[in-house]
Amino acid sequence: MLQQYARAKEQHPGALVAMRVGDFYEFYGEDAEEAARLLEITLTGREDGGAGRVAMAGVPFHAVEKYLARLVKLGRRVALCEQVEDPKKAKGLVRREVVRVLSAGTALEDGMTPAAENAFVAGLAKQGKAWGLAMLDSSTGEFLAVEAEGEALLLAELARLRPAELIHSPEAAEWAERAQIGLELPILERPVPMEPAMRLEKRLRAASLAGFGLDDKPAACAAAALALAYAEESGLCLDHVGAISTYSLSEFMTLDSATRRSLEITRSMTDGSRRNTLLESADETRTAMGARLLRRWLEMPLLDRAALEQRHGAIARLIDHALVRGDLRDDLKRLGDIERLVGRASAGLASPRDLAALRDSLLRLPELEDHLRPASLERLQELREEIDLHQELAMSLRNALAETPPAHTREGGMLAKGFDLELDKLRSLAKDGRAYIAELEASERERTGIERLKVGFNSVFGYYLEVPKARLASVPETYIRKQTTANAERYITAELKEHESAVLGAEEKSIALEQELFDRLRRKVAAEAPGLLKTARALAELDALCGLAEAAVIHNWTRPEITDANVLEITDGRHPVVEAQGARFVPNSLRLDESRRLMILTGPNMSGKSTYLRQAALIVLLAQAGSFVPASSCRMGLCDRIFTRIGARDELALGQSTFMVEMVESANILNNATERSLVVLDEVGRGTSTFDGLAIAWAMVEHLARAGAKTLFATHYHQLNTIEAQISGVFNCRVSVEEVGDEVVWTHRVLPGGADRSYGVQVARMAGIPGVVLDRAREVLADLEGSAAPAAVGPSMKTVQMTLFEMEDPAVVQELRALDVEGLTPVQALVKLEELKRKA
Ligand code: ADP
Repeated sequence: MLQQYARAKEQHPGALVAMRVGDFYEFYGEDAEEAARLLEITLTGREDGGAGRVAMAGVPFHAVEKYLARLVKLGRRVALCEQVEDPKKAKGLVRREVVRVLSAGTALEDGMTPAAENAFVAGLAKQGKAWGLAMLDSSTGEFLAVEAEGEALLLAELARLRPAELIHSPEAAEWAERAQIGLELPILERPVPMEPAMRLEKRLRAASLAGFGLDDKPAACAAAALALAYAEESGLCLDHVGAISTYSLSEFMTLDSATRRSLEITRSMTDGSRRNTLLESADETRTAMGARLLRRWLEMPLLDRAALEQRHGAIARLIDHALVRGDLRDDLKRLGDIERLVGRASAGLASPRDLAALRDSLLRLPELEDHLRPASLERLQELREEIDLHQELAMSLRNALAETPPAHTREGGMLAKGFDLELDKLRSLAKDGRAYIAELEASERERTGIERLKVGFNSVFGYYLEVPKARLASVPETYIRKQTTANAERYITAELKEHESAVLGAEEKSIALEQELFDRLRRKVAAEAPGLLKTARALAELDALCGLAEAAVIHNWTRPEITDANVLEITDGRHPVVEAQGARFVPNSLRLDESRRLMILTGPNMSGKSTYLRQAALIVLLAQAGSFVPASSCRMGLCDRIFTRIGARDELALGQSTFMVEMVESANILNNATERSLVVLDEVGRGTSTFDGLAIAWAMVEHLARAGAKTLFATHYHQLNTIEAQISGVFNCRVSVEEVGDEVVWTHRVLPGGADRSYGVQVARMAGIPGVVLDRAREVLADLEGSAAPAAVGPSMKTVQMTLFEMEDPAVVQELRALDVEGLTPVQALVKLEELKRKA
């Protein structure tokens, strides 16, 4: 047996092997040690012939799913090694083989993959200069491929799709390792299968890949073959994967991973969850299918005006028809995850409960279709047509399945009475036999006069009659003694055994028959998979649209107007996430166009600069995802990319210099922004000394203003306000604050014109810095402002550099000049002040 185990390990390197032995799945050797540790189960041992003892750990077969789910969640692959011969018929040792490998991307069993996210296996390959990336979700049959020249674009694409695992070719190893660090996903190196195109054609049952747009994309093809081979190797049946869609990165708005992260579209920066993300505020979907699709819409904003207007139009209609929307949302809520249920049926993994859930969902479709009718126009009309009712299948499932079937097929009971005559007969035989045995106790008591006679069952010799020792004299001759216990004797009779074998035989046969019939039912679903999946996708879209309509009503969002002009006009815009946090939100407007392309936004810390910047980016993103937006009106030309560079404080944990990260990301923006891009820069240049930072920020503003990108540039360098007068298209705004006595009151209102002070000292006071320190800080500030030539004059680049090197001030003053007062925490400020005092 251990040889069988060793062979399985050889065939599946890197996977934990779980081998079926009797009622257990067992791990041996190092696998046992690892499994025992990860699953918190007991580590024991087993004799290995001459080789001594080998470590062993086991889990009972009826609870194996729970343990497998845990291992998969921890990023492990598990190969299930099953008995492939009937133990009764096998000569010698039962043959065992690996029939299934479970991993993050291939464990489709219920509960193993998060419902609201895709479970993609990604393939990554390189051919010459081209990089190919493919994504296969075996649970839904979705199969995507893309090819690009630059690996950076694909990295962004990987960050967007967040696959569950990544399979890469040897040429792509170095790069996959880099992706692994950023995305924390399991990676695995595999050679690209031989004849990748042919392999794909076979799976997709197509004569050529041209119809999928893959024929001239060898790298994408190789990547797709890698993902496919991996999923096939895992033992899944992939009959429902019937198409692959190739897309071009240019169909969607480009969002690099830094932008995705800082805008917190679907993952929060704090903990990676969806709390306080754009997704959370927009997601009012009612099904897991809809939730997955909405996530994708937000992650892939469109560049196609017609497609967007179609979504906006459908949402408008669903808002107008509030009753229809309400009915539809009730209907949707009662649907199961048809996409995954069908996927599991095709993969041969659907449980009786899965098929029952599919049945219940299908039976609800006629009502849903009826509810949709009054609002059916344009896209909604198309969706109604795409939703097929699958009535015949629904009826078959209804007739075949028990009302509430068990979770497993092991013990039978999943099929309804009246579905199959033979099954009913076997079941009633078993039932009658059981009833006969149940009655035997009473009848034998009467016949023999032994009042305490009992019928019992044990696994060694089945049913027996038990007589207390005191009454042995009354035992009839026909009883055959089998066992003696402390107080009683146990007997069998010929008649009892006859009924017993009838019961057990009928039960065994009925379960076997039921399993066979159930399998047939499962295959029937699988055969209809393409049509069912099409229906599921239409339902997902309907759900996403209903959800966005609901979100628009709840949060008072409006329909954006898309125009060809290169403008962004937001009236009374709000930040969807900050607004939802409760406090009264102050709306602000924004207008960017050819003549006002670049806004320099100044204002004290905490006044609301970042919020204002992000809200503009999120409004554009929502609009291009097809949603309504948090503003009283919005008119905009489509943006090809959104770039953000916000907050330099978070990457320190990753070990990179904050300033370095800031510059890498800024370089990306400067190199790639077009006049159709929206660029959002917050406090760029903060990570270095004041003059360096100011100089860099200054030069960036000049460059972006010339490139023509629509830009929002928040800064605490008030000196930048002077650029307004020098370059056309640049204009100043500030977040105003009111001073009441010595207090600053945030108004969060964005007004024209630059700010001239940063109120850092006031903010420090509000944070609780002691009065003496603040008084001293005010003095220092007055001195600095008095003598700081560059700040007063509004430098050209040259003067900044000159003053930096020509000054011959005492060290303390130099240090003070270089000090970024706003960048200090209160405690750092105190420590610094103490240090300066000692030096002076
Ligand atoms: P800054 O970037 O200027 O330091 P933030 O944008 O981080 O400021 O805003 C600071 C806090 O002020 C936010 O956490 C938010 O709670 C609040 N805030 C910002 N803008 C608004 C607004 N328009 N209305 C209400 N509260 C706001």
